[in-house]
Amino acid sequence: MHYLDYAATTPVSREVADAVYAALVEGFGNPSAQYACGRNAAAALSRARNTVAAALGCEAERLTFTSCGTESDNWAIRAALHHNRRVGRHIITTAVEHHAVLMTCRALMREGYEVTFLKPDRQGHIGADAVRAALREDTALVSMMLVNNELGTIYPVGEVAQLLRELNHPALLHTDAVQAFGKIPFSARTLGADFIAVSGHKLGAPKGIGALYIAPRVKNPCPLLHGGGQEEGLRSGTEATAQIAGFAKAVELHFADLAGKLAHIRELCSYARGELSKIDGVVFLCDDAAPHILAFSLAGYPSQNVVSDLDAKGICISAGSACHKGKPSDVVAAMQLPKKVAAGVLRVSFGAESTRGDVDALCAALDEHRQTRFPML
Ligand code: PLP
Repeated sequence: MHYLDYAATTPVSREVADAVYAALVEGFGNPSAQYACGRNAAAALSRARNTVAAALGCEAERLTFTSCGTESDNWAIRAALHHNRRVGRHIITTAVEHHAVLMTCRALMREGYEVTFLKPDRQGHIGADAVRAALREDTALVSMMLVNNELGTIYPVGEVAQLLRELNHPALLHTDAVQAFGKIPFSARTLGADFIAVSGHKLGAPKGIGALYIAPRVKNPCPLLHGGGQEEGLRSGTEATAQIAGFAKAVELHFADLAGKLAHIRELCSYARGELSKIDGVVFLCDDAAPHILAFSLAGYPSQNVVSDLDAKGICISAGSACHKGKPSDVVAAMQLPKKVAAGVLRVSFGAESTRGDVDALCAALDEHRQTRFPML
């Protein structure tokens, strides 16, 4: 198999699976229990939080474990609006957010909030100036992702944080960093966002574990779940100790020689661009993007057909975000691409294990598809 869909999810290594198994079987105690096996589970939980927090560049007490990136995004947005309920009911976000943010904002519109969706240019970019132009006195929240899941485009979250500081604007800043964590260098300490959502399964952890960073200036954030008071009372419910152990082990492995891994991915991405550009009809969607995601179009060849054809050859790529397969992508729609280009949009995404052999297999299969299938009229 040639797996080139690391932005959808990543393989779980034996070491991560072993860490999950050990937490399930040997470390099964409830972290809230007072006896030894409970205390051991609490200690393991605390070590895991330290590991993930260190990688994110924040103090452990700023990090709450959640069930996924989607939960982190939903909670961050609702908590920011609750915190700023006296500021107003206007939200600024982008038209290229993941559905975890887009759909939450659409739901909020039905609840009476006003949302400005910033549009990208033809390359998918949105500048901090667009946020400045959209800001209003009653803007309570700006939610801008750090790396786009379909394009790999990087958004100026740090600049937006600086802008809000300069203007002394009370709006809180949330960033969906699910595709950025461990993929581009950033630190919660210096980024300046008030909320940062991350997810484990994009960097080798099991699915179903995420985290939310909440900045110290958000005093008494609104809890997501009420109950037994776990996670400092912010997200009650017995902690998912095994998932969390897997998350921490994956982060530990992923961040070991991260610079080397990222250099390999960067090199592979530029090799892929070179090889793909030899295929007639290939159009790249953006020029400067995070190196683990490469978005392009085999113009005129519907992407669902390409993905199926490649699947038959054991090559896994995506026709956009795997999170809304089958439906037209909001991101591609927002870029207003020519019809044939939009119809053929594909995403390949790399991990440390990806090889030139994977890229060569991809290019051969795409070229064959182009030569053996009729393009759309
Ligand atoms: N945000 C982005 C940018 C993503 O790419 C994804 C998943 O693809 C999510 C949020 C949702 O993360 P999860 O699958 O952990 O809910």
